[in-house]
Amino acid sequence: MNNISQFSFGISILEIIYVLASVLFILGLKMLSHPLTARRGNILAAFGMGFAIIATILFHEKDGAPIGNIPWILAAIVIGTIIGWIIAKKVKMTAMPQLVSFFNGMGGAAAALISLMEFPHVSEELIAEHGMANGHVLAILLGLIIGTVSFAGSMIAFGKLDGKIGDLRIKALRYINMSILAFLVVFTAFIMTRDVTASSELSNLVYIMFAVSAVYGVLFVFPIGGADMPVVISLLNSFTGVAAAMGGFLYDNQAMLTGGILVGSAGTILTILMCKAMNRSLLNVIAGVFGGGGAASGTTGTGNVKEITLTDTAVLLSYSRKVVIVPGYGLAVAQAQHICHELDKLLEEKGVEVKYAIHPVAGRMPGHMNVLMAEADVPYEKLIESDEINPDMPNTDVVVVIGANDVVNPAAEDDPSSPIYGMPIVKAREAKNIIVMKRGMGKGYAAIENVLFYDDKTRMLFGDAKASLQGLVNEVKDL
Ligand code: NDP
Repeated sequence: MNNISQFSFGISILEIIYVLASVLFILGLKMLSHPLTARRGNILAAFGMGFAIIATILFHEKDGAPIGNIPWILAAIVIGTIIGWIIAKKVKMTAMPQLVSFFNGMGGAAAALISLMEFPHVSEELIAEHGMANGHVLAILLGLIIGTVSFAGSMIAFGKLDGKIGDLRIKALRYINMSILAFLVVFTAFIMTRDVTASSELSNLVYIMFAVSAVYGVLFVFPIGGADMPVVISLLNSFTGVAAAMGGFLYDNQAMLTGGILVGSAGTILTILMCKAMNRSLLNVIAGVFGGGGAASGTTGTGNVKEITLTDTAVLLSYSRKVVIVPGYGLAVAQAQHICHELDKLLEEKGVEVKYAIHPVAGRMPGHMNVLMAEADVPYEKLIESDEINPDMPNTDVVVVIGANDVVNPAAEDDPSSPIYGMPIVKAREAKNIIVMKRGMGKGYAAIENVLFYDDKTRMLFGDAKASLQGLVNEVKDL
């Protein structure tokens, strides 16, 4: 009797902590939607995960026995925490998308491993009653396929973002991929209709499924253009969430189920929003028709560019009424966010209204510019989404493009042959004056020319963004 009451007590505590963890995940996710609360949201969700792990170790029981292999589990947690901590501390802000992709791949791999481990242990009573065609087996197989695709795809995305892997644009790949997908569906049905007494009899088949899914993950991401990587990472992230949710079904674990569903749905919503921001359909992204990383194509620049000096730029800015700064990848590379904010404060002291135009895919990860400028304590009200600030561009005296290129490229609006055609841009060219700060005439991520640099209203201020901004701050102070 005592045993039974202890057993139910432990399980009840576990259930309550899972509910608490789920609530913390949901609150954390909600807080992630605003830069001011995002850090706290992340910590809150991490606490939720921590509680769920500790509670599982302490209270989980299978067939009346407590959880085993505790030293192994603790060792894995310690090693994983140390490695994750060091990587996250060391990573440069500009390499964050690669890191996200890598971590996402690890999540997919974990989900796939769970399926590989659990398949031979599907209960024999369940198989005797329903055969292999039961929900448990389906959850295992789906977790295996989706987790493996997410793992393999994320590793290729990681390589692409790191510049180690190029695009593979072969039309036939589309048909090959569709055939592999069809094979996986048929293979799942094949396994589930086998007449066996124990699932372990089919263990070899799941290894084939694992290998084929890995090949699919690789070939699925290979043809996708470099500039579409954020969408792909978000999509793969949602896959990992779904794969983890399958694990939640298997173990009847609410925290895992809620966490997986949240990641899956948030990833799906983000994918859709990013496709909208780029004015493209998901199918179009997956088919890999967008540019990036490849040879220069689209509009070619004509004429000469006109340069401007630091002093002239400082004068122009100081005597303007409205200035809009367009930060881009180069600002992040130069780590010039703090000095940029210093310049904007100096200008405001002189009565200039300064705002930032934030493009959804500026930089190298969704929300990159929000995070970067928040790091420099730029008030959030000053960060205006590009579609909101665009109507005000004709009234803007000076737009200062700092290390941005693709996100202000008019080819996206004018040139149907351009690989970025259709992507909404910050309409910098509509401002009265345009200052472009970059090191030289280097191309952006999509590797195409930008006619904005040759526009009559444009003046180029060449140099590293941080050095140029420091120079501007000094000049503005001296005025
Ligand atoms: P781009 O990559 O188009 O351009 C960046 C520009 O910054 C370059 O032309 C480069 O020119 C300049 N630059 C580099 N280093 C410095 C420096 N130290 N100082 C000054 N300038 C510098 O950036 P955008 O932000 O405009 O566009 C982002 C692109 O990345 C889009 O194509 C987007 O689709 C893609 N992408 C976005 C992701 C996201 O989630 N946000 C993820 C992956 C890709 P120069 O060499 O002459 O200095």
